[in-house]
Amino acid sequence: MVYENLLRDKRAIRELIRRIESLKITRDVNIMEVCGTHTYTFFRFGLRKIMPSFVNLISGPGCPVCITEDIFIDKAILLAQEKKNVIATFGDLVRVKGTRSSLEQERAKGAHILVVYSPYEALDYARTHPEKRVIFLGVGFETTAPVIASVVKKAKEKKLKNFFLLTSHRLIPPAMQTLCEDKDIKIDGFICPGHVSAIIGQRPYESIVKRYRKGCVICGFEPFDMVLGIYLLLLQIKNNRPKMENEYKRVVNPRGNPLAEKLLREVFKVVDAPWRGFGIVRKSGLALHERYQDLDAHQLIRRNIHFERRKSEGCLCAEVVKGKIGPSQCPQFRKICTPQDPLGPCMISFEGTCRIYYEYGE
Ligand code: SF4
Repeated sequence: MVYENLLRDKRAIRELIRRIESLKITRDVNIMEVCGTHTYTFFRFGLRKIMPSFVNLISGPGCPVCITEDIFIDKAILLAQEKKNVIATFGDLVRVKGTRSSLEQERAKGAHILVVYSPYEALDYARTHPEKRVIFLGVGFETTAPVIASVVKKAKEKKLKNFFLLTSHRLIPPAMQTLCEDKDIKIDGFICPGHVSAIIGQRPYESIVKRYRKGCVICGFEPFDMVLGIYLLLLQIKNNRPKMENEYKRVVNPRGNPLAEKLLREVFKVVDAPWRGFGIVRKSGLALHERYQDLDAHQLIRRNIHFERRKSEGCLCAEVVKGKIGPSQCPQFRKICTPQDPLGPCMISFEGTCRIYYEYGE
């Protein structure tokens, strides 16, 4: 509570804004906030309104539901159509459409979809329902992957034969590298995700600074954190000295969380993986390690089934997650696409850029 009061102090935030103005930067600066929770903070607390107009904040790919490809949903649906299977998932994913249908639509047709708040709930369900096959949909970044890894490990230890993982875990730094290499997107620096950084520490961003000369500041999620992070980045840009800085020292250890990383290395292996809008990103996904293959839900999918990638009609989420356009540049925004009747995942998830712009943008 004490922290909250300090980190939302209006006078302190206004003083930071004054310092940003006093930098007298005369060109537009593009800063990407990688994480959807930062987008939320920026809009929810009205920071956009008080930020000088030369600071252009671009929302990035840090919403796990938004970057999950249609094909993953198609695979989950295929599994859901088998009577014996129960699909356990976090709530947001249920509404996301695959190429033809969504898990919500399949549930209406009788599929067993279990919305859980923790993967341990899914594990418990598997333990108490041995006649069912429980398939947990593992979606998320470095933040959630250690919890999923611990559940997988527990299922193995307990010798559960009816618990499986369909994984679509992704790693943030490789996506940031892809963004740096994309000539259509001009980013001057990154606000790096605090939760992800609590696991991976500072080192992965240091190579981005060195290789691409982009400043990186790890930030907390309170308004003061964010404005301070933007100020630090602007100072770097003004002095043409990109570097790695950690504004979120109260949570992020520079070396990350070695225990969580050890667990990730034990359960998963790093693979090339598809992202919505990005295509295949090298070494950006987590697949189950060979020693946990018996828990991989992919083995339950018939080998001869071909999943086809299709361009989503009318929805520009693929452009939004890369920061190529903002939600208001999508012709469907607010007119046809709303949180009540969303066309794409960016309007579904609470971390989705379109959803946040819709709720707090104006
Ligand atoms: S406004 Fe809707 S249709 Fe447009 S990009 Fe966002 S989610 Fe997709």
